[in-house]
Amino acid sequence: MTHPESWLLPPAFAELGPPLCLPWRGAPSPRPHMLFWNEALAAACGASLQEADLGWLCGMELPPHGAAWATAYAGHQFGHFVPVLGDGRALLLGDLRCGGERHELQLKGSGPTPFSRGGDGRAALGPMLREALIGEALHALGIPTTRALAVLGTGATVLREQGPLPGAVLARVASSHVRVGSFEFLAARGDREGLARLCRWTLARHHPQGLAQPVPARALLEHALASQASLIADWLAVGFVHGVMNTDNMALGGQSLDFGPCAFLDTYRAEQVFSSIDHRGRYAYARQPAVAQWNLARLAEALLPLLDPDPERALRWAQATIEGFGEQFERAWLERMGRKLGLARAGPEDGVLITEFLDLLQRGGHDYTLAFRSLLRRIDPATAWPDGLPDPTADASFADWLGRWRARLAKEGCSDEARLDALRSANPLLIPRNHRVEQALQAATEGDLGPFQRLLAAVRRPSELPAEPALLLPPRKHERVLQTFCGT
Ligand code: AMP
Ligand code: MG
Repeated sequence: MTHPESWLLPPAFAELGPPLCLPWRGAPSPRPHMLFWNEALAAACGASLQEADLGWLCGMELPPHGAAWATAYAGHQFGHFVPVLGDGRALLLGDLRCGGERHELQLKGSGPTPFSRGGDGRAALGPMLREALIGEALHALGIPTTRALAVLGTGATVLREQGPLPGAVLARVASSHVRVGSFEFLAARGDREGLARLCRWTLARHHPQGLAQPVPARALLEHALASQASLIADWLAVGFVHGVMNTDNMALGGQSLDFGPCAFLDTYRAEQVFSSIDHRGRYAYARQPAVAQWNLARLAEALLPLLDPDPERALRWAQATIEGFGEQFERAWLERMGRKLGLARAGPEDGVLITEFLDLLQRGGHDYTLAFRSLLRRIDPATAWPDGLPDPTADASFADWLGRWRARLAKEGCSDEARLDALRSANPLLIPRNHRVEQALQAATEGDLGPFQRLLAAVRRPSELPAEPALLLPPRKHERVLQTFCGT
């Protein structure tokens, strides 16, 4: 077994120093204990665990290299700017080496920081296990995401609206935790030199080629646009609603981050919102591309002084670049959704076929995941399909559409077998359904981790029949989860 000193390195981000990073440490936990240890991720990052590591993995001791940091950022929350927003409950521990790349290990819920704004700096067990579970689900679906290396119970109680809850700390791994809000933080202070350093740091980590460009900040913005267009298209393709796409929750590394009140669609509804605090549907399913563009415009604003010495020219370039997001997203979306219909090459002319399918789902109140997956059965009726599982596209309302779909498929001249493989890989059979997630977290809060472990095992194999086929089923009426909570 390797000693932690050899797998946890001092974090490269700490080199940036104040005001972005301040040396810090977590608060005491009475009884740290492991609730979830991510063996697969640990193996990929060369991490191993010994009893003595629990103290620093929950933040109350310093990690073996001897220091930890609180990190600062600003952010637009639901459109309103907060110049010092966080991070109010995170502690940066160090870097890991994951397959030739550096990733950060950060704690969430390890106690207050200089940026806590009156919060307790703690986290409840349910939301931390939720983040771990959803991270594994997104990862298994092939979507870039931060992931939990561990979730530890603290043995302490945290007070939330629902009452006292068991406390927990999430130890998560991200390619970096630099967010749009990190740039907004420096821009709001008028710290041009700090911005330039953060820009270089972020490029070095996420897009080193950009450092060689004549204007590195432009390369950074272009890279952010491309990675977000791809990420949001990934989300829409699996019916994912992030729930709280504030600028502080958009990572420059292009990974899904801080998806607190997130949820996957059961029945398809473009304007679906789950988060209890999203009263106006700002972060609804189909609004996510527009919100991403809005957030990227905030990044562009923060970067303005670096884009061109002439403010007018900087602004014109930024506006033209941000406008280009729509087209980039559209291309990524057509590619993802086309693949879900089994098309090897979807073009703009296929947009109608895709939206007609979505309209049929919305009008009939059909299950998003099962509708796409059931297309396999329209090609091969012998496709395994558990008894009692709805088969949306068998409904008569799809007959016309299926005719047009088959005609379009025929143009590509591809064997049924290859088509089935393509459909299978683009359309998961299983997603973490909200009612199952809630049940698992409720049981975990009451001390039973069984349902969480079974759901976790299932979401890690989204294309396979799970040991518990009931996990595939959409919620019955009384099981529907209409609201989710970030639980902060
Ligand atoms: P979120 O919307 O969850 O991304 O949170 C926004 C900001 O509030 C982040 O900087 C969090 O760290 C901070 N925050 C959330 N919950 C707490 C808490 N219990 N104590 C201190 N800060 C918190
Ligand atoms: Mg956040």
